[in-house]
Amino acid sequence: MKKAMSMEHLDAIEEIKKANLFGRGGAAYPTGIKWEQAYAIQKGPKYMVCNADEGEPGTFKDKHILSEDPFELIEGMTIGAYIMGAKEGYIYIRGEYAAIQKIVKSAIENAKKAGYLGKNILGREGFDFELKVVSGAGAYVCGENTALVESIEGKTGRPRQKPPYIKNCGLYQMPTILNNVETYSCIPWIIKDGGEKFSSMGTEFSGGTKLMCLSGNVNNRGVYEIPFGITLRELIYNLGGGIKDGRKLKFVHLGGSSGSCFPESMIDTKICYYDLKKAGFSLGSGAVLVVDDTHCVVDYLKTVMEFFEEESCGKCTPCREGNHRLVEILDKMTEGTATMDDFNKMKSLAQTMKTTSFCGLGQSAPMPLITLVKYFEEEFLEHINGKCRTGVCSMSGKAGK
Ligand code: SF4
Repeated sequence: MKKAMSMEHLDAIEEIKKANLFGRGGAAYPTGIKWEQAYAIQKGPKYMVCNADEGEPGTFKDKHILSEDPFELIEGMTIGAYIMGAKEGYIYIRGEYAAIQKIVKSAIENAKKAGYLGKNILGREGFDFELKVVSGAGAYVCGENTALVESIEGKTGRPRQKPPYIKNCGLYQMPTILNNVETYSCIPWIIKDGGEKFSSMGTEFSGGTKLMCLSGNVNNRGVYEIPFGITLRELIYNLGGGIKDGRKLKFVHLGGSSGSCFPESMIDTKICYYDLKKAGFSLGSGAVLVVDDTHCVVDYLKTVMEFFEEESCGKCTPCREGNHRLVEILDKMTEGTATMDDFNKMKSLAQTMKTTSFCGLGQSAPMPLITLVKYFEEEFLEHINGKCRTGVCSMSGKAGK
């Protein structure tokens, strides 16, 4: 913080650009560029907002930072406030993290008492920054930036039309710098040790380290901080200790429920925004859900799509109706009553949702379906023929088919 306060604002932003830091919440937008663009906007007041909604299933890394080192986040946001000239900031924490909200509130109070927040921070006259915790109320869609901002304003958490973008017209229609917990928490390190040093820990296209959430059928579940560039195989087998009970890995669901699923044959892909994109995947939130061969892809997918059916905010038809119809078809598949016509409708509907939904939720909800059909089509066809190779699906309607 002290070092940031001794720097020219644009020099501090330049350090973040050199760090090659991409937003860790899922969108992977270059943070330095985002801050540079926000800095250039002349109107104000500007707001600092942190997305700590962490509603993506299988993601629990921000929880780790918030509970173990909330000062890292507070410092990252305060450095941002100093650069941008923002006087107010909000940390939007999901309602399910009630105990963590208390930890963060207490850390804010302590930082204030120590002169790191509030008025005339660290004795610098006119450098004032107040930070508040806002609780989410359990809606997954509030992880979407514009819905989150609506929710902070006290409105129903529903996505806004874009453009205008948050950086120009965010909280209370004012310029807003919105980043995720992990992204803000990288800032103090970058300012202290330099952007080049941070960048050198990763790859040419993805600077620094990344928190990965390993869960599912793996021996050592947990949060791992890895340098960009190691492979998914290294993460799952070297750090995660391999598949539980000596079973075979069937697929990996990467980046949370809205991410892609891919088979064991692709786990030598490097964890790097560029390499994953080249292979057709997105790192998303950093969730790595490991699924072994005892699981049925259709049954698994049904569970995922039920989640999206529940969490769709209902604003647009492709997502509201689409998720519901996909669950209906998957229900028929698990009962052994689906037809080829259903299967084709399901594939076409998924593509329609991807291209026509209003926000990221509906656009990405069909990704697990699209990728599971791509890599495991045979299992879907088996269900249409009344067979579940794992024995997980009841096939209760098979007799009446
Ligand atoms: S895609 Fe549409 S219905 Fe789904 S969450 Fe976004 S706005 Fe709401």
